[in-house]
Amino acid sequence: MHHYQNLIGGKWHDALGGQRRTITDPANGQALASVPECSAEDVGIAVAAARQAFDSGVWRQTSALERGKTLFRIADAIRKDSTQLARLEVMNCGKPLAEAEFDIADAANCFEFYGGLATKIHGETMQVPANSVSYVVREPIGVCAQIIPWNFPLLMAAWKLAPALAAGNTCILKPSELTPLTALALAKIIYELELPAGVVNIITGTGAGAGEELARHAGIDKVAFTGGTATGRKVMQAATGNLKRVSLELGGKNPNIVFADADFDAAVDGALFAAFANQGEVCSAGSRLLVEKSIHRPFVQAMLQKIERIKLGHGLDAGVKMGPLVSAAHREKVEAYIQIGKAEGATLVCGGERPAGAAFSQGWFLQPTIFDNVTPQMRIAREEIFGPVLAVIAFADEAEAVQIANDTDYGLAAGVWTTNIFRGLRVVNQIRAGITWINTYHPTFNELPWGGYKQSGHGRELGLYGIEEYLETKQVNINLDEAPLGWY
Ligand code: NAD
Repeated sequence: MHHYQNLIGGKWHDALGGQRRTITDPANGQALASVPECSAEDVGIAVAAARQAFDSGVWRQTSALERGKTLFRIADAIRKDSTQLARLEVMNCGKPLAEAEFDIADAANCFEFYGGLATKIHGETMQVPANSVSYVVREPIGVCAQIIPWNFPLLMAAWKLAPALAAGNTCILKPSELTPLTALALAKIIYELELPAGVVNIITGTGAGAGEELARHAGIDKVAFTGGTATGRKVMQAATGNLKRVSLELGGKNPNIVFADADFDAAVDGALFAAFANQGEVCSAGSRLLVEKSIHRPFVQAMLQKIERIKLGHGLDAGVKMGPLVSAAHREKVEAYIQIGKAEGATLVCGGERPAGAAFSQGWFLQPTIFDNVTPQMRIAREEIFGPVLAVIAFADEAEAVQIANDTDYGLAAGVWTTNIFRGLRVVNQIRAGITWINTYHPTFNELPWGGYKQSGHGRELGLYGIEEYLETKQVNINLDEAPLGWY
C-alpha cells in the first residue's frame, strides 16, 4: 500500500500530528493507500509556504510566457501518465474507466488552455479628463486556497490550479478526504517539474480538520470552493474574517426538458446520460426530467428498455457503464432519498435497490433508479440527491415547463430537447441557470464559463471568465503636468 505525503513548500510532509487516513476502493473496499490527515497546524505551514512564495515574487514576477510554458509542461506530464492516472481515478472514486480517461485528458487540456491564456492577460489605457496617462493592470490576488469535491478529483484540481497559476497566484489545494489520490499524483508531477517551492501546495484532510481553517485563515487572500451548497455557505461565512475573495461552485437540481417534437431516440439516450453519467454524482446532472405529457408514457417506457444497457461493476472492468457510489455513507444518503420518494407517493419504475451478487457485495453499488409521476413539490424534485436517481415530471405546455424548471433554489444547468430551434432558444432564454444545452447534455468546454445562478454559487470557472476570478485590477495614473497642483 502506497503511503502518500503532502507537498508543502516544495517538500514532502506528513501531518504534524502523524495522523493518516486509509483510502479504499469504493467498488470492493480494498485499501489502496494512506494519506496524511492534516489539521489546522498543517494548514498554517502551507499558508506560510504559499505566502513566502507569493511575496518573494518567485512566481508572479516570472514572465507570463514562462508561467504559460510551465503549465504546458504540466499538461504534457499528465498526458504521459494518463493511463495510470485514469486507473487511479477509477479505483479511488468508482467511475467507469472511459469516463476517467475523458477527465484526465480534459485536465491536461485545461492546463494547456490556461498556459496559452497566461500571455493574454492585459489591461487597458483610459482617456481621463486630466493631463495624465491612466491605465489599468491586472495582477494576481495572492495566496489562494482551493477546496474541491470527490466526483471529478483531478479535473476539479485542474480547473482550480490552472487559471490561478496562469495569473501568478500561489495555491494551497485540498482535495476531498475521500478521493485525494490523483491530486497527490499531480503533486508528484509538480514536484518533479521543479516548480518554485511553495507555488503549489497540496494538502489532504477533512473539511472540519483542514477545510474550515483554509476558509478562515487570515493569510489567505482568496478561497475557491467547489462542493455542496450547505458547505459553501459555511465557507463564505468563515471567509468574512479577512474579507477574502470567495468563489463558489455548488450544487444543482437541474431540469432536462423534453418536448414532444424532440428527436425521440436522441432524447431518451440524452436523458439517461444526463442522469446517470458518473453514477449521477455530477453537480450538473439532469436529475429532474421534465417530459411533455403527450409523450410521457412512451418516453418512460423507452428509458426503461435502454436502462438495461447500463452495466454495473468495477470501473476497470470491460463494458461497465456505472460504478459504485463513492462511500457507504453517501450510498445511505441516496437510499434515504429513495425511501423519501416512495413515501411521497412517487412511482418507483426501476432500481431503488442494491444490485445482488457477489461482485457487488463489497462495494457501494446502487441500481440506476427512476421515479415517475413526481410532482414539483416533492423533496426528490427539490433537493440534490447526487446519485443515480432520476425524478420524472410531466408538463402540459412550454409555459409550465419553464415554470417548473425555474422553481428551484438552484440554477446550475438545464437541457432542452426539441427540433424547433425557436422554441429551444425561447426556453433557454427564460431558464435561470448558468449552463444550458439544446439537444445534448453534459458537454463541457475549457473555453466556456462554468458556474451557477442563485444558490448554485457565484463566480465562474473555465474560459476567460475563469481567470478573472484570480485577478486583481489596479489603476495607474502618471501625471504629465509639470507645474505643481498649487492647491495649498
Ligand atoms: P462537500 O461540500 O461535502 O465537500 C467539498 C469539499 O469541501 C471537500 O474537500 C471537503 O473536505 C470540504 N469541506 C467540507 N466541509 C468544509 C468546511 N466546513 N469548510 C471548508 N471545507 C469543507 O461536497 P462533496 O460531497 O465533496 O461534493 C458534492 C457536492 O459538490 C455536490 O453538492 C455537488 O453538486 C458539488 N459540486 C459542484 C460542482 C460545480 O461545478 N458547481 C462540481 C462538482 C461538485
